[in-house]
Amino acid sequence: MGRSNVSPVPTSADTDDGVPLAHYRQHEGCGVEITCNVCVKRRVVGLEAVIARLVATGRGGPQTGVRAIARLIREPCGCGARSWDTRPAFRAGIYADGVIPPALLIEDQERSDDA
Ligand SMILES: [Zn+2]
Repeated sequence: MGRSNVSPVPTSADTDDGVPLAHYRQHEGCGVEITCNVCVKRRVVGLEAVIARLVATGRGGPQTGVRAIARLIREPCGCGARSWDTRPAFRAGIYADGVIPPALLIEDQERSDDA
């Protein structure tokens, strides 16, 4: 397990962040599966939508681990829980009906809407 990239930002909780999102770009149609740990409701968001959202909110980017995303989600589930699990979803198109807008994925505290 060699870590080739050095992160300039120290992470307080260096737990299992998973594989960097950029890795999944080689898997066409890959997305991120987001599962509520309480009601087990599942959603899938497109990989690039997730990366774009992370960059836009300053919370991460292509190097963010797929499992780390779970900690970045501030939005509560429909059931009220705020405990999520995230993992790569291959051939995400088969879950197309479960796609949610990326805006729901990560709440941006610093709004910068250039309308
Ligand atoms: Zn739930």
